[in-house]
Amino acid sequence: MIAYAERFVHENDSEMRQDDGVSGLDLQLQGTLDWSPAATASASKDFGGLRSAKPLAVVRPSGSDDVARSVKAALRSPNLTVAARGNGHSINGQAMSDGGLVVDMRSADTDHFQVVGGGCGADYAVVAGGALWEDVLERCLRYGLAPRSYTDFLGLTVGGTLSNAGLSGQAFRYGPQTSNVTELEVVTGLGETLICSRSDNSELFFAVLGGLGQFGIITKAKILLQPAPDMVRWIRVVYADFGEFTRDAESLVTRPDGDTFDYIEGFAFVNSDDPVNGWPTVPLDRDQRFDPARLAPDAGSVLYCLELGLHHQGSDSPSSVDSVAGRLLGRLGFVEGLEFRRDVSYAEFLLRVKHAERHAKATGLWDAPHPWLNLFVSKADIADFDRTVFKGILKDGVGGPMLVYPILRTRWDKRTSVVLPESGEIFYLVALLRYALPYPDGPSADKVVSQNRDILQACDKNGFDYKLYLPYYQSQEEWKRHFGKQWARFVERKARFDPMAILAPGQKIFSRSS
Ligand code: FAD
Repeated sequence: MIAYAERFVHENDSEMRQDDGVSGLDLQLQGTLDWSPAATASASKDFGGLRSAKPLAVVRPSGSDDVARSVKAALRSPNLTVAARGNGHSINGQAMSDGGLVVDMRSADTDHFQVVGGGCGADYAVVAGGALWEDVLERCLRYGLAPRSYTDFLGLTVGGTLSNAGLSGQAFRYGPQTSNVTELEVVTGLGETLICSRSDNSELFFAVLGGLGQFGIITKAKILLQPAPDMVRWIRVVYADFGEFTRDAESLVTRPDGDTFDYIEGFAFVNSDDPVNGWPTVPLDRDQRFDPARLAPDAGSVLYCLELGLHHQGSDSPSSVDSVAGRLLGRLGFVEGLEFRRDVSYAEFLLRVKHAERHAKATGLWDAPHPWLNLFVSKADIADFDRTVFKGILKDGVGGPMLVYPILRTRWDKRTSVVLPESGEIFYLVALLRYALPYPDGPSADKVVSQNRDILQACDKNGFDYKLYLPYYQSQEEWKRHFGKQWARFVERKARFDPMAILAPGQKIFSRSS
């Protein structure tokens, strides 16, 4: 049946066909199979804008059954692959399928939201894998509840982030999003639809979390919730010294709940008035001004900022919030006078990157290539990383945020497929979130990719203990090195749950068996 669809498409490639009749019937979908040039062109692009692979057709499933039908159809064909596409916010074509089927998870279930339940401190939401986190948040807030762990940007799907990890400033307390899900519905590479959790089908559950889409397509997830606060005191404090910055950041992430902030991140920026990379990126409000005179004359070319959030209720008096924030800030060694704060609603805080998205869309920065690089660097090497990378290779910035903040290993479950640096309880997320106008108004993507390569080479040359987050490699040899001791388990899981290597071909880890 797929062979028929394939022949049909090749013979009629130039025709615009939105076919939910002939091919939809062939696949027996409740949803549709769209092989129009517009649909396949859109599925051959992602946020990275660096790679392109055109699928045969795009499946718009109506639910899990259609996802299973698509995988089964691919299994029966000699060479088709299936890529689940969340919101296509990958950088390197990870959600693409060259000549195969792309399953648009956003279209499954018009209402992505099944239930909010629980009570007695065990609240949860069951949502579709293709739901956007911003929609999950919005729905949960109606019940005074909210997920515990986020990404900085919420225009990403539940399935897309759970296939990686899903990290933001709450991870020090709750772990990544993969640590905050208790049950999944998954369509495996064998086309079976299974419910899995820590106790049932646990090998599949842990394989899929951080599994880069290799073992199954997440069609539903049960997510832990907590009572939502009304407000967040959003604070930024500046450091000239990396040692002091990391000392304070590490102290904050290891303090008990109630004796620390509720959100802890950090970033490096350039000690200059550069509007994109320097001082103007720190204030939280138009009325606030970064006063460089506060810095010591010997401050270096790169500065650091701790970004903190303190939850509070609308009914709390401003003085009580001041007093808690003051007590916590009083222990920190930031540069006096370089402290910025704002009180915002909880939703506004969590949706803060949406404003940046609007601005970037208006200026053309959103649709330009994004050669982003994300790393986990062990605490043991982060000072050398700072010297070599932030103060060396990136001393002029990356045209966007350079996040650097500590995370605790014990908040991650070793049984998931995510790979972390080898040693130590604390490691750092380093995220180089580059924004630039397309060449020739900005640097060429090749030049920036080559700078990313220089950074990785420097890490290798110096023997840093690091791993790529949202990894991308082209050869199995490189993937083997990435997974290290966990490679054998990853391969066993693949053999068990997707033996024909149907799923997520864009990750370039395994090749489709015939
Ligand atoms: P896609 O790009 O569509 O897919 C990613 C991978 O997951 C593909 O291999 C795909 O096949 C697979 N996949 C998608 N859906 C499913 C599913 N339902 N089941 C199984 N596999 C699936 N990450 C963080 O951790 N923290 C951040 O703060 C953060 N901020 C970001 C901000 C921006 C602006 C962008 C562009 C990315 C950010 N990311 C962040 C990275 C993001 O988490 C990943 O790129 C994520 O994969 C994107 O989700 P998506 O829904 O777009 O997935």
